[in-house]
Amino acid sequence: MKDQDFGCDLLVISPHTDDAEIGLGGTIATLSKKGRRIWVVDLTRGELGSNATSDERWAEAAEASRTLGLAGRLQLNLPDGFINATDRDHLMAVVWALRTFRPRWVVSAPDPVRHPDHVATAELVRRAAFLARLTELPVQEPEYLRWQDGSKVPNTADLWIVPTVLSVCPADGKPSLLFDVTEQWATKEKSLHCFASQFQRADHRRPTMINDGTFLERIQRRARNWGRRAGCQYAEAFCTDAVPVLNDFPDVEWRT
Ligand SMILES: [Zn+2]
Repeated sequence: MKDQDFGCDLLVISPHTDDAEIGLGGTIATLSKKGRRIWVVDLTRGELGSNATSDERWAEAAEASRTLGLAGRLQLNLPDGFINATDRDHLMAVVWALRTFRPRWVVSAPDPVRHPDHVATAELVRRAAFLARLTELPVQEPEYLRWQDGSKVPNTADLWIVPTVLSVCPADGKPSLLFDVTEQWATKEKSLHCFASQFQRADHRRPTMINDGTFLERIQRRARNWGRRAGCQYAEAFCTDAVPVLNDFPDVEWRT
């Protein structure tokens, strides 16, 4: 693993343009402050969203990307609402992303509950991470939009072995790790405010589960709950089937 030619440190893969910010905006901001290179790939253009056009949401995502300090961001064109973890084209698009961004860590976001795309994405990423290492599986570059302020899209490798795949932990799940995001919590909130069309209920907006005025409060509550568990003010939680292979105990706090 150590010899791999990493294209970025963290790749976040999510179905819709606000999912990365909701799921792990604090972790992204914390890592980017440390100089880590982070790319986000949004799988769909969000064409089934109740409020705002795809282009308006993409403009909001550009602002949020700047706020979080992303290295780059892409938006693919998989069908909103119909992401399918066993669909060959959907898998190939994610395999392409993994071979192109060659990440050290991959996180699928948000937590895989309720919305069918959220459930499917975690499984899609797990499957694609396996397929990405198979040299006999060629992939083609999918259609995408690139955040213009971000970095150039790197060259695609013939294969990529993904060392670690994580997903955002559901509120009632058992986290594999907790990430202290207290210092960058305000940055996460700022990134969420970029998505005004999704979170603010104005007269011309259709009511949804996330624009009823309590959404930010719910996100705060969850982060405070994980924070209580982590012994800090705000934390984000992740799940993974992988186990770390150590040759020393890391200098981090362990909490039960
Ligand atoms: Zn979503």
